Formats: sequence, structure tokens, C-alpha cells
Amino acid sequence: MNMPVKEMLFGDLWEYAPALESTGHAQFEKRYGHFIDGEFVDASSYMKSVNPATEEVLFEFGVGTEADVDRAVQAARRAFEGPWGKMGGRERSKYIYRIARMIQEKARELAILETLDGGKPIKESRDVDIPLAAAHFFYYAGWADKLEYAFPGTTPRPLGVAGQVIPWNFPLLMAAWKIAPALATGNTVVLKAAETTPLTAMKLAEIIQEAGLPPGVVNLVNGAGSTGAAIVNHPDINKIAFTGSTDVGKIIQRAVAGTNKRLTLELGGKGANIVFEDAPIEQAIEGIVNGIYFNQGHVCCAGSRLLVQESIADEVVAKLERRIQTLVVGNPLDKNTDVGAINSKEQLDRITEMVGIGEAEGAVRHSAPCELPSKGYFFAPTFFTDVSQSHRIAQEEIFGPVLSVLTFRTPAEAIEKANNTPYGLGSGIWTDKGSKLFKVAGALQAGVIWGNTYNKFDPGSPFGGHKESGFGREGGRQGLLAYLEVS
Ligand code: NAP
Ligand code: MG
Repeated sequence: MNMPVKEMLFGDLWEYAPALESTGHAQFEKRYGHFIDGEFVDASSYMKSVNPATEEVLFEFGVGTEADVDRAVQAARRAFEGPWGKMGGRERSKYIYRIARMIQEKARELAILETLDGGKPIKESRDVDIPLAAAHFFYYAGWADKLEYAFPGTTPRPLGVAGQVIPWNFPLLMAAWKIAPALATGNTVVLKAAETTPLTAMKLAEIIQEAGLPPGVVNLVNGAGSTGAAIVNHPDINKIAFTGSTDVGKIIQRAVAGTNKRLTLELGGKGANIVFEDAPIEQAIEGIVNGIYFNQGHVCCAGSRLLVQESIADEVVAKLERRIQTLVVGNPLDKNTDVGAINSKEQLDRITEMVGIGEAEGAVRHSAPCELPSKGYFFAPTFFTDVSQSHRIAQEEIFGPVLSVLTFRTPAEAIEKANNTPYGLGSGIWTDKGSKLFKVAGALQAGVIWGNTYNKFDPGSPFGGHKESGFGREGGRQGLLAYLEVS
């Protein structure tokens, strides 16, 4: 029978009609400079941000120079030595709560803007990114007046001015992960958003202004890599927090070495999602799909290597093949869409190149036979079988909707293969046996390990890496430590 699996499963009746989210009330400027010392200021030059689903230019944003970064750092220093540094934790928490509530109030608009600027499906922006961003501010607002209870027997003190650089995969959420704990601990901030997704950071600046934070407590300097480097290299910054690629992380670590700056790095990953033969298979399939196709696979802790026990490998691969054909790929503003646009042309080129390398290495490619939109940057959900550990697609981060499937026979082999990577960020274990789950989890070199689920995030749960995935933790009580002196 040659009928596509989707029709075999659902027939014509189940074709989804489009359910487009309307963008009418989502407001943004045609041009943003920077947000420094409580004001939106002009930039000396500008770049464009496009909607990756349509390739249309959405707006322009400033390219921060060393002088812009210096102005921002000076404003942050004044705020730290002035009102913010003198304010008690209980007062600080009120501001942070206010930001959290305002994110909630503007959630729908923020979700639309996140999807327009970055290409992620509206159901993810709406149900994951924006609620979690608000949750981070709520969570850390609660800690602001309890720092001495977080670290008993110490007198926790802020570090000063924090320089923060974030990537494009969860733009507002990454800004929240960085800004919320910094403010709760009494620091001030200079942050740069990624060049493909600065829009929600600018909306956050509006919220911060409206929330009445003293000028200079949070400064947002837009720009590309050189602006990030200007933040990293600024002599009057006390702490650098970076999320991004391992390559840039290494440059930053070298730049910061020998200075008094504290550093946390959240870098890349090649997460192993391990499925044992006693796992609930249908749930595991959903976990595999969520692990690699959530946010087009632009997830540092993505389960991008599937390790499946040999005895069930054929069944899992057959089910996965069917399941990826039912994923809805296309317009990110459609509420039915499961897999939206790839964030940028550069990232699409990188994914295409890596998939070509996988084919050339001899792995077998399985791609959903979906029709991709003619405009915009899209890539069909894909996985590879017949992958060996030495293949580049098993070793290197692809950061796209591409999974490498490997097999194992014993738990010991699963552990060895899972740890056979320079990275150590996320991992998943699927089994019916609690004892097996905990034993394997204890042997994995990964900062976050999910049991019978994947890609679940909570502000109360610390997140971070081992090995080349970086160091330091964000989230939870541990996330406070990155911004405190606790002697
Ligand atoms: P990236 O190229 O390292 O960029 C991250 C940020 O650093 C961007 O804002 C970038 O600016 C800036 N930057 C680039 N060069 C710099 C330099 N020399 N000095 C200072 N800043 C510089 O990474 P990406 O492509 O945006 O993000 C994808 C990577 O991030 C993946 O490897 C992923 O695994 C990792 N990631 C990790 C986590 C985690 O929590 N561990 C979370 C999300 C993503 P531009 O935007 O202008 O390039
Ligand atoms: Mg964009």
C-alpha cells in the first residue's frame, strides 16, 4: 500500500484547518536602539531582524559599540552604588514581582512577538516560553528577602554589575533566567540579546521601565558578537553570565581568565535519551519527539542522541517513523503547528550541512515527507539510523530537528555510550524500573536528567552542565550562588 501513513492513520477527515493566531494587537517599533539608564536611546548603526518564517524584515535594532556598552556599565554601576544597592531585599522583591505580573498581563502579545521574531510555534511561545519567563521572575522575587536563609551562617552580598549574553533559542526565557536571579541578589545588569531575536528583550525593557525600576538597574545593549565581546571585556564588570555555543564560551573563558570577574557558562550539548526495553513505548515515543523536535531542536539540552535497547529498536524506529509523519510543520503562527521555522538562514545551512555529512558517513536518513513552505527557513523532522558513535552526527551538536539513533544491549553499554561525548547537559531515561532509573542516572555525566519525561523545566530546579557544556547553575537556590559572595 502506497498511501502516506498520515492518511492511513487519520484519513482526509483529520487534515487540520489553519488556526492562525492574529497578530493585530502585537505592537512593536520599526526601530530600537538600546535601553540604557532607564531610557530608550538611539544607536550609531542598525541591523535588521527578520521573521524566519517569511524572510520579511520586522524591525531594525542597534549595534552596540564599546562606547554604548561603557555607558550601560556606568549606568549599572551608579544604580548599584545608588538606589538599588541600598535597597533591602523586601523592596527589591516588589519590583521583581511587578515584572513577573506584567509579563503575565502581556503574555499573549509577548508570545506572538517571540514567534514572529524567532520562528517557534505559537503553542510553544504561549505555553512554555512566556509562562516560564514569568515563573522565573515570580520564583526569584520570592528569594530576594530570604538570602540569608538560602545560605545560613553567611552574609550573602551581591557581586556588583553583571554582564550577560544570551542566545536566540529561548529569547525572553533566557533573559529571565539571567535577569531575575541577578536582581533578586541585588546586582545590576547589562545584557545583550542575540542578533536574530532581540524583540522580546526590547518589550521586556518597556516592562522594566513601566515597572518603575530605578534607572540603570537593567540595561539592554543590542548588537552582534562584537557587542557581546565588549561586555565580556569591560573592566568594570564583576560577573559574566553567558549562554551560547561552546566555541564562544571558550573565547569568553580565555578573556575572563586572570581578571576578578566571576563566570558562569551554559553551553552546548548532545543529550542522550535512553530507552530501555521495559519502558512504556508509546510514552517514550512522545518523549523522543518532544526531546528532539520541540523548538525545532534548537534546545541545548535536546535529546539529540536516541539510545534504544536493541531488543526494541525495530519497534521504536517503526513507531518513530510513523509519528514524525503526523507532526505539523509550517507557519509558526498556526496553533496546530508542531515544528516551526528554523531560526535563521545560517542555522538552516548548518543543519543542511550536518545532514549531508550524516548521509555521506553512511547513516540512513528518515525525513518526514512533509511539504515545506516555499518561503522561510524550514527543515523536515529527520532522524538517522545506522549511526555509529564515531559519526559526526553522533558527536556534534546539530541544533536542529535531527536525531541520531544508536542502539545498546546492556545498561553498562548505555551509560558508556551516553557519556561518550565532550558534552554533559541533558539526558533522559525511559524504564519501568525505578531502581534502574536511579542507578543509570547516578552514572550519567549530565547536569539535568529526566526520568520517563523530557524537556521539562521549572524555575525551582537548577539547570547547567558538565564538561564542555559549561559550569554554574541557573534556577533554584543554586542559581542565586552565581550572583553572590557568600563567605
Ligand atoms: P553563540 O554564537 O555562542 O551566541 C550566543 C551569544 O553570544 C549571542 O548573543 C552572540 O551574539 C554572542 N556572541 C557571539 N560571539 C561572541 C563573542 N566573541 N563574545 C561575546 N559574545 C559573543 O550561540 P548561538 O548560536 O546564539 O546559540 C546556540 C548555542 O547556544 C548552542 O550551542 C546551544 O547549545 C547553546 N545554548 C546553551 C544553553 C544552555 O543553557 N546550556 C541554552 C541555549 C543555547 P550574536 O547573536 O550576534 O551571534
Ligand atoms: Mg528575527
